[in-house]
Amino acid sequence: MAKKNVTDLNVQGKKVLVRVDFNVPHKGDVVTDDNRIVAALPTINYLTEHGAKVILFSHLGKIKHKDPAETEEQKKKNDMAIVATALKKLLPETKVTFVNATRGKELEDAINNMQDGEIVLMQNTRYEPGESKNDPELGAYWASLADLYVSDAFGSVHRAHASTVGVPSHIPSAVGFLIEKELKYLGQALDNPQRPFVAVLGGAKVSDKINVIENLLKIADRVIVGGGMAYTFYKAMGYSVGTSLLEEDKVEVAKEFIAKGKDKLILPVDNVVADDFDDPKDIKVVDFDAIPDGYMGMDIGPKTIELFTSKLQGAKTVFWNGPMGVFEKPGFEKGTVAVCKAIAELPDCMSVIGGGDSASAAKNLGYAEGFSHISTGGGASLEYMEGKELPGIAVIEDK
Ligand code: ADP
Ligand code: MG
Repeated sequence: MAKKNVTDLNVQGKKVLVRVDFNVPHKGDVVTDDNRIVAALPTINYLTEHGAKVILFSHLGKIKHKDPAETEEQKKKNDMAIVATALKKLLPETKVTFVNATRGKELEDAINNMQDGEIVLMQNTRYEPGESKNDPELGAYWASLADLYVSDAFGSVHRAHASTVGVPSHIPSAVGFLIEKELKYLGQALDNPQRPFVAVLGGAKVSDKINVIENLLKIADRVIVGGGMAYTFYKAMGYSVGTSLLEEDKVEVAKEFIAKGKDKLILPVDNVVADDFDDPKDIKVVDFDAIPDGYMGMDIGPKTIELFTSKLQGAKTVFWNGPMGVFEKPGFEKGTVAVCKAIAELPDCMSVIGGGDSASAAKNLGYAEGFSHISTGGGASLEYMEGKELPGIAVIEDK
C-alpha cells in the first residue's frame, strides 16, 4: 500500500520533525560533498513554504559508546555544526538555528521559540547511545518535541533506530519527496517491471548480494553477474580461479543459483587478469576456464563486454548494482564503463542504480543523466531489492 506523503499532512503552524540524511562526507570543518543536503531541500522547502516549524535531525558518521575517550573523539569528528554551516549557505533566506544538543532545555527552548517557516537543526542523533538501539525512551522523547514526523532519509530506513522507527510509532507520519521517489522507482522495478527486466550485479562480495541475487532470479528475466563475485560462481562450476576474490563458504549457494538460474543467469566468458592486485606488472585477457595460477581476475574481458551488452539490448527495466571490475584502478575500468554506457544508452528503459560505488562510477563517467534513478541508499536499496520490509518505511502511515 502507498505511504502517506508530506503533501498529505496539514503542516501549517505545526512542529514537524524531519529525519534527513545529512551523513555527508567531510574533512575537518568542511563538508566536501553537499549532495545529500541538496537532495533533502525539496522536502525542507515544501515544509517551510507551507508554514511548518521544521526540526531537522540526522546521524553523521559512526559513534561508538564504549570507551569514553574514544566516544569524545568521534563526537568531535562528527559534529553536525559543519552541516548547519553548509545548510545555511544553501538557504540564505531561511532562519536556520543549530542546537548543539539532542535533548534538554536548550533544544526545547529553541523549538518553542520558532516562528512558522523557520528551521532548527539538532546535533548528531548518534551522540545519543540509545539512537542505534532504538531506545523506547529516546524515541518517545523526540516524538514529544513535535506534532508530526517526516521520514526523508532513505539511506537509513533499513535500520530500526530511535530516529527512524521509534519516533514515528508515536506521532502521525509521512515520507518526504526523496523517499517517495525511491519507492516509486525501486517499487516499479521490483513489483511491476516492464519486461524484459535485466539485473546487472557486480561488486566484491557474494555474501553482500546473495539475497538480492536470489530474489532477482525469481523476478528478473535475466541476471548478469560480473565483478569479484563471478569467481565464486566459476569455482562452483569447477574452474580454477587463481588468486581471484573467492568466498569458499559461498560456493554451495553459487551452485544452487546456477542450478536454479539456468539460462537466466549470465556469467563472464573472459576476464582481464593480473599477477598482482597492488602492483600489476603482467596483465592479460583469458577465457573463463583458463585463469592461470597466481593470477587474479580484475575485470570482465572484451568478449564478456560484448555478451553483457547484447543481453541488455531491448531491456525495458534494468537494475544495476556493483561494478564489473576493480574500476578504481586504471586499466581495470573498461568493463564497468562499457556496461554503464550500455545501460545509460538503452532507449525507453527504466534504469535504476543501487549501490554507492556503482552510483559514483556512473556520475564520474558522465552517464548519470542516462539513468532514470540513482538511489541514495546503498544498503537500503539492496535490502529493498531483496524483497525485505524496511522498518523505517513499514512504520510510516499508509495513505
Ligand atoms: P556498490 O557500492 O555499487 O554496491 P560494492 O561495494 O559491492 O558495489 O563493490 C565495489 C567494489 O568491488 C569496488 O571497490 C571494486 O574494486 C570491487 N571489485 C569489483 N570487481 C572486483 C574484482 N574482480 N576483484 C576484486 N574486487 C572487485
Ligand atoms: Mg560499495
